[in-house]
Amino acid sequence: MKALIADDNAGFRTVLERMLRKWGYDVMAASDGLAAWAALQAPDPPRLAILDWMMPGLDGVEVCRRVREENREPYIYILLLTAKDTAEELVEGMEAGADDYLRKPVDTHELRARVRAGRRILDLQEEVVRGREALRKLATCDPLTGLWNRNAMLEILARELKRAKRELSPLSLLMADLDHFKQVNDTLGHAAGDAVLQEAARRMTGCVRPYDAVCRYGGEEFLIVLPGCDLADATLRAEEIRSAIAASPFQIAEGNLNVTCSLGVAASSGSAGFDAFALTREADEALYSAKHNGRNRVEILTPQPVTAR
Ligand code: GH3
Ligand code: MG
Ligand code: MG
Repeated sequence: MKALIADDNAGFRTVLERMLRKWGYDVMAASDGLAAWAALQAPDPPRLAILDWMMPGLDGVEVCRRVREENREPYIYILLLTAKDTAEELVEGMEAGADDYLRKPVDTHELRARVRAGRRILDLQEEVVRGREALRKLATCDPLTGLWNRNAMLEILARELKRAKRELSPLSLLMADLDHFKQVNDTLGHAAGDAVLQEAARRMTGCVRPYDAVCRYGGEEFLIVLPGCDLADATLRAEEIRSAIAASPFQIAEGNLNVTCSLGVAASSGSAGFDAFALTREADEALYSAKHNGRNRVEILTPQPVTAR
C-alpha cells in the first residue's frame, strides 16, 4: 500500500520513511504542504498520509481540509503529527478531517500501532466499497449476459433523452428480438438457449460504441440506446447488428446453430420526439412489422408527417 510522509524536517522524514518501508509500505515523501497536496491529488494517490501539522506552503490541517473537501475515492486515511497539545488545537485538527493524531516527539511503537489501526480502517472501507459495487452491479446488470437490465436502461434512456433534448442532438432506439428462439429451448434445452443469449449479447455489444447502451429488455429482447444517431445512422447500425447475428453460426456446446434476429428502429426526429415511452413503443411496433414481414430484417415505421394526417 502507498503511504505519504510529509514533514519539512529532512532528518525526521528519513527516519519515518525507513520505518514505514520496514512495515511494508510503498513510501512517498514530501517536504512541504503543497507537495503533499499534489501527491494526494495524483491518480492512484497514497491511501495513508502522515502529515506534519506545521509545514511551509500549506500546513497539515489545510491539506487535510482540502482532501476532505474533494471527497474523492478511495478514502485517504490521515494521521496528523503535531507538537501542539492543547485540546482545542487537537480538536481543530480532527475537525479538519484528520482520522487520528500523534504528538511529537513520535514514539516508534505508538506510531506503529496507529498506522496499524489506520490500515484496518482502510481495509474495512475497501470491503464496504466492494460490497457496494457488487450490489450496484446486481441492481443494474442482467446476470446472464452482463448487459444493463431493464431498470438501469430506463434510467439511462431518461438521462440520454434529457441530454439530447438540451443539446439538440438526435437519439435513436433499437428494439431487437431473436427469431424463433423458443425452438432453441424446445429442441436443445434451456442451457443452449442461455448460451445463445450470451453470444447474441456479445455480438450486439461488438457492433456499438462504448457510450451506446445495450440492455436485455426481456427474455430474448434487447433494447439499444444510440445517443447522437439519427434515423439513417440507427438504421445502418441495426443492419450491422442483424448481419453480425446472422453472419456466422453460433458455436455453443450443443453444436453450431444459425441464429437470426429482427429489429425495429425509432428516432427522436419522428413523432415520438424525446418521449421515452413513445419511442420505446415505436421501436416495438417497428419490430413487430419486422417479424410480420418475415424476420431477420430491420424495419422503421413509415414516417408520418403531422400535416399529412
Ligand atoms: P419470434 O420469432 O416471434 O420472436 O419467436 P420466439 O420463439 O423467439 O418468441 P417467443 O416470445 O414465443 O419465445 C421467447 C422464448 O424465450 C420463450 C422463453 O422460454 C424464452 N426465454 C426467455 N428468457 C429466457 C432465458 O433467460 N433463457 C432461455 N434459455 N430462454 C428464455
Ligand atoms: Mg423472439
Ligand atoms: Mg420476444
